[in-house]
Amino acid sequence: MLHRWFGAARWLWNTALEIRSEAYRECGLTLTGNDVSRWLTQWKSTPGHEWLALVPATSLTQCLRDQDAAFRNFFAGRARYPRFKRKSTSGSLRFQGVGAAWPRGVATLPKLGALKLAESLPDVERPDLVTLSRDPCGRYHVSFCAQVETSLLPITQRSVGVDLGLKDLATLSTAEKIANRKRYHARLRYLRQQQRCLARRQKGSRRREKQRLRVARARARVRQERQAALHVLTTFLVQEFDVICIEDLNVKGLGRGRHARAIQDVAFNEVRRQLAYKSEWYGKILVEVDRWYPSSKTCSACRHTLDELRLDERQWKCPKCGTFHDRDVNAARNLLAEGLRQLAGRDDRDLRVDAGDACPEEILVQVLAEEARSGQRNRACLEQLAFG
Ligand SMILES: [Zn+2]
Repeated sequence: MLHRWFGAARWLWNTALEIRSEAYRECGLTLTGNDVSRWLTQWKSTPGHEWLALVPATSLTQCLRDQDAAFRNFFAGRARYPRFKRKSTSGSLRFQGVGAAWPRGVATLPKLGALKLAESLPDVERPDLVTLSRDPCGRYHVSFCAQVETSLLPITQRSVGVDLGLKDLATLSTAEKIANRKRYHARLRYLRQQQRCLARRQKGSRRREKQRLRVARARARVRQERQAALHVLTTFLVQEFDVICIEDLNVKGLGRGRHARAIQDVAFNEVRRQLAYKSEWYGKILVEVDRWYPSSKTCSACRHTLDELRLDERQWKCPKCGTFHDRDVNAARNLLAEGLRQLAGRDDRDLRVDAGDACPEEILVQVLAEEARSGQRNRACLEQLAFG
């Protein structure tokens, strides 16, 4: 039933998109979702389109509203021109109202009845609008928006540089290394096997369809595993540190190279996204260091810069001061020094960072206090600083 509903919603989206595009091309007319919804009533009684009437009316209206939003985003320059939806095994539909049993983990949807949710719900208010979707592995998800109160995390007066890597998930300027979990690599290996197998299956065959499902499941597991690891990492960082300096990597540029898949895998962008909102929620500072800064080949002890450092050189010794460096730890320390320098608006590059106390506290406290005074930071933070 849901599959048919998703199909109907897709048909409506595509038909409406075609009409709106054509009206604009041919006569310069800008149609809205409301215009299209008037035709929708007629379509429902047109022979051959009776199935439209079987779908909850509010869901179809919502589909047109979503398209309005897509056009608004396009005209505001925030998104690309709305695209046609392809026929696929996944799909989604929005519902208004989920019934009174929502707090008990039951969603009551029109014409469908009560659906028990698999996960327990966080303690939030009943949403006005929920999205029901099916992913490529055939699982159904209910997603919704809710407002949650966050409280600021205590000030730790520590700052950190984070070097995101391919081999290790992240290396910190405290010389701590956070590795990918073993399970992640095993799952990745399994996914590759299954993908190779899929390539050998004949198009349109039943075995291919079965294999497609297997690949979809393996892919979902890899994604979940990675996502979980990234959340653990970013939560740890905002809890332990006040200032987090990461590299502003040109992900698009790197993505085309030899390490393309691996880089996407560690999901630099995802780490940055999570850190951005978590630091905002919990009152911490995220600094993105300029991507052209030579963080790997500069000595974090004496600032001597090597001419070249090959990607496979994991360790090196500074020719000037003789310090022995782990490539990633050194890079993380440089990121921290550069991040703090950017934060303090200083121009000299001789801000030293030691492994032991990585935080030039006076700068940090100054910056935090500055932000608190200018209203960017909660007053509670300022008081913590004053008495901390
Ligand atoms: Zn050196």
